[in-house]
Amino acid sequence: MPIDKDGVMIILSSPSGAGKTTLVNMLSKLNDFEVSISHTTRSPRPNEIPDKDYYFVNEKEFNRLINNQEFLEYAKVFKNFYGSTRTPVINNLNNGKNVLFDIDWQGADQIKNKKLDYKLITFFILPPSKEVLFERLSNRDMKDKLIVEERMEQFERDVLHWINYDYVVINNDLEECFKKIVNLIQAETKDGSKDYDKDFIRNHVEKLTS
Ligand code: 5GP
Repeated sequence: MPIDKDGVMIILSSPSGAGKTTLVNMLSKLNDFEVSISHTTRSPRPNEIPDKDYYFVNEKEFNRLINNQEFLEYAKVFKNFYGSTRTPVINNLNNGKNVLFDIDWQGADQIKNKKLDYKLITFFILPPSKEVLFERLSNRDMKDKLIVEERMEQFERDVLHWINYDYVVINNDLEECFKKIVNLIQAETKDGSKDYDKDFIRNHVEKLTS
């Protein structure tokens, strides 16, 4: 059973381009919220700060962490390895901090299956439409048409995992989406009223996958 003073684990996953990382950054500004900084074997992007956005490590170091059982979860995503180490997460939770995870569906499944003694709330963020997603991906750092097409194909596969999440939130407007997530976290942790329309979400997903 979670202890009242313990923090809550909050996972945000999404297909690439749905705006999840921006949302995690916005949530991290709230009181008592900390982001779990992942390790990755991917190279840093020009705008990324080592040890803040990620701990950038080589495969040898990543394998050492796997063998030492330091990961709460890890997975291969787009040819690179990503993982969340256990100790900082547990320390933060024990100190009453809510921990935010920006991780994919494989990591979310692993954490869910661990059934830890901390409350877990999982969110899947979706774009308003495939057209908007295509536009967002084309405008990102990935000007390469091939990469955009690859990510659009990946989207078709990733979106199917929505069913395993507690909540699906559509990122049409960043501020609105942020407010929805905060409302749902509060409803889950403080018994507030929930602003969530399951049928609407089901219809939206059907449209995205048809
Ligand atoms: P990017 O390379 O664009 O930063 O991230 C690619 C994907 O890897 C994103 O979906 C992101 O959420 C996911 N990711 C980042 N860190 C982790 C992690 O520690 N574990 C898992 N399973 N996925 C992660």
